[in-house]
Amino acid sequence: MSDYYRHTKIIATLGPATESKEMLAQLIRGGVDILRLNMAHATHQWVKDAMWFIREVSAEVGRHVAVMMDVKGPEIRTGKVERPISLAVGDRIEFHIEGVDPTGDLPSVTVNYPGLPGDLQVGNVVLVDSGLIRMRVFEKDDSRVRLEVLTPGELGSKRHINLPGVQVNLPALTEKDEADLRAGVESGIDFVALSFVRQAEDVHTLRRLLDELGSKARIISKIEDQAGVRNMAAIVRASDAIMVARGDLGIEIDYHKLPLVQTELVQACQADGKPVIIATHLLESMISSPMPTRAEISDVSNAVRERADAIMLSGETTVGAYPMETVQVLKNIIQSIEPSVTKGLNEHIVLREPKAMMLRSAAVLAGELERNGAGSSGIVVFTRSGFLPYVLGALRPQGIPIYAFTDVDHIFRQLLLPWGVEPFLMPFSEDPERTIHDALDYLKRREWAAPGDWLVVITNALADDKVIDTLQLRQVE
Ligand code: PEP
Repeated sequence: MSDYYRHTKIIATLGPATESKEMLAQLIRGGVDILRLNMAHATHQWVKDAMWFIREVSAEVGRHVAVMMDVKGPEIRTGKVERPISLAVGDRIEFHIEGVDPTGDLPSVTVNYPGLPGDLQVGNVVLVDSGLIRMRVFEKDDSRVRLEVLTPGELGSKRHINLPGVQVNLPALTEKDEADLRAGVESGIDFVALSFVRQAEDVHTLRRLLDELGSKARIISKIEDQAGVRNMAAIVRASDAIMVARGDLGIEIDYHKLPLVQTELVQACQADGKPVIIATHLLESMISSPMPTRAEISDVSNAVRERADAIMLSGETTVGAYPMETVQVLKNIIQSIEPSVTKGLNEHIVLREPKAMMLRSAAVLAGELERNGAGSSGIVVFTRSGFLPYVLGALRPQGIPIYAFTDVDHIFRQLLLPWGVEPFLMPFSEDPERTIHDALDYLKRREWAAPGDWLVVITNALADDKVIDTLQLRQVE
């Protein structure tokens, strides 16, 4: 089996530290599977240029990556202040909606969400500047909220507001998100990550828009607040994948419950056969240090042991001083930890279709072959929709590579996300036997498989005039 093989996929966010042609080539060559474009900081021209650049560099390097557009979603922010406002414990401040005069007896600042006074109740906690300043509502009317400071800080312009536990009535997609998506779809994005998904309906709204735009991009729902956690089962069902967006989630829920929620989300995804991504602060200290902290090494190892499909870098590869080193650190940890994982097949997955049930048999057989010294094993699958390899990845056949062949461009790139799937783009022949022969030959030439290896092949075959599903055992010649 090739040295490149690992079950856990790596996602890197593109930014000033990595957007040059040279750095991009290094990231792709270095093993990044998916590049993330964060629309909180991007223009449409940047998206267009980045997409063109990514495809060109991929072709040059001879290794392909998928592209995820992460749309910002609804966000509440304070307005501009002339100079930062110093807030001590017990100080009072007023937030008022735009176009309304402040009361005048307290320092005040505007907020960009007119529904804020309606959504908040007296006693609610409000977090400002990514959780740094904590306040409590003591009074409100239709257009103003008055707050008392619980944790001190300096309030600058346009600070992010979190409302833990408050039911927020913002739309799922803003006008900016829609415009960003149009630009992304035009450039051929493979995945859309939607921020602050609170209910399944948010996912349906995005899917309707993608359908309208004629996009086949898969939807990754970012779970980052209490409503998202509460509605996780329905959101997982409606989505193609989930991102545990620990940056905001760590502010919106009790921080000490974050590991519990992470595990709950991983398990909910594995039960529904959906990929799950662990995001944010995996190697945060490496933004300015060439080595990770011991706690970060443990955190990444935990994600690998939980068998998350992918782990994601944000600031580490957008503004960090050591972007390539962070990718190498992830690979090193994955390669040390994966062989030590002794878990069996995913027992929680609910397989609804007979064809999916056949995949479980394929995974059991491949495991038997590997364990009983018949040589190294693997599963070969042919797909045009991506369905079979996504289910195979969700079954988590530990130590068994899933070689997924497709002749569809975007499906090939979308197969870069699920755990353990190694995708290949190859034309299919009219004759299934010819296609199998080509695939095995390809695996041998690229040193993924060697003569004597046993491969479990899932494919169509012709029986008289009928096309039937088959599970076959093939030895590489
Ligand atoms: C997060 O909050 O963890 C996250 C991934 O979202 P963003 O980077 O958009 O804040």
